[in-house]
Amino acid sequence: MTAQIIDGRLVARKLRAEYAERVKALTAHGRAPGLAVILVGDSAASQVYVRNKVKACADIGIESRFIGLGAETTQATLLQTVDDLNADRAVDGILIQLPLPAHIDIRAVLERISVEKDVDGFHLYNVGGLVTGSTVFSPCTPYGVQKLLEHENIEVAGKNVVVVGASNIVGKPTALMLMSQDATVCICHKKTRDLAQFTLLADILVVAAGVPGLIVPQMVKTGAVVIDVGINRLPDGRIIGDVDFEGVRQKASYITPVPGGVGPMTVTMLLHNTLVSAERTLAAAGG
Ligand code: NAP
Repeated sequence: MTAQIIDGRLVARKLRAEYAERVKALTAHGRAPGLAVILVGDSAASQVYVRNKVKACADIGIESRFIGLGAETTQATLLQTVDDLNADRAVDGILIQLPLPAHIDIRAVLERISVEKDVDGFHLYNVGGLVTGSTVFSPCTPYGVQKLLEHENIEVAGKNVVVVGASNIVGKPTALMLMSQDATVCICHKKTRDLAQFTLLADILVVAAGVPGLIVPQMVKTGAVVIDVGINRLPDGRIIGDVDFEGVRQKASYITPVPGGVGPMTVTMLLHNTLVSAERTLAAAGG
């Protein structure tokens, strides 16, 4: 068996074209959706991520506002910045690029963002909403995984889903989202004994560990759907995922490549959440 490759770039392009039309309609009603992006410090990697997000907004007509703050910015100043953006009617979404400098309490800052503008889905309300089925915004990477499965018409209900990785931003929310769609879900992490014993049970295997080559063909059930969230930069500059792509594609039914799989979907879902926030605001205003 050779897996069908899930082309995240293609799916992202299709979705962004659809969102661009909705942005156009909103803009015709008065104003374009607005996303504020806050970067504290000058990490080169964070600057690249922020630049990509700002460009992706511009490409579909969302107005982004970049707020660059020095690494020495105090927590009080950052909280005031968030308060100002919460009150700003031209801003539909607020994104704080993580990580933040060590002297800042990340949770306190994330909790300060208005739930209605929490387009990253990291506010405690939105995290808890994954359990109760009442999120205002779903977190972007897990939502991107869900959209890829939907696009390929891959049924989730009743399937065995194994998620390798239990972080708050990828592994746990992905598990909760797929569980809410009636999958039977298992989460594995560093202390999981005999990882293969679990991964072999997976009809849908989602890998988000940040360990290159962690998943080899012997760990995958024939015909499984394999979603590789991992992004690892090798010393020679190449980017690879957590899955041995060439080996596993001979055994899986579907597989996402890295790059070009989940990655493009994360920013796409950020655009989606910002757009939806603006649409809700317009609807609430009776538009
Ligand atoms: P993270 O916070 O470092 O979490 C990694 C998780 O994987 C932890 O739960 C860890 O277990 C688990 N893990 C690590 N080594 C493992 C092993 N050998 N066996 C089983 N589990 C193991 O990372 P993250 O933020 O979730 O990101 C995970 C990967 O996804 C990274 O490569 C990151 O770059 C990538 N990522 C991609 C996107 C995208 O858009 N494609 C978005 C976000 C992240 P413990 O909990 O026990 O430590």
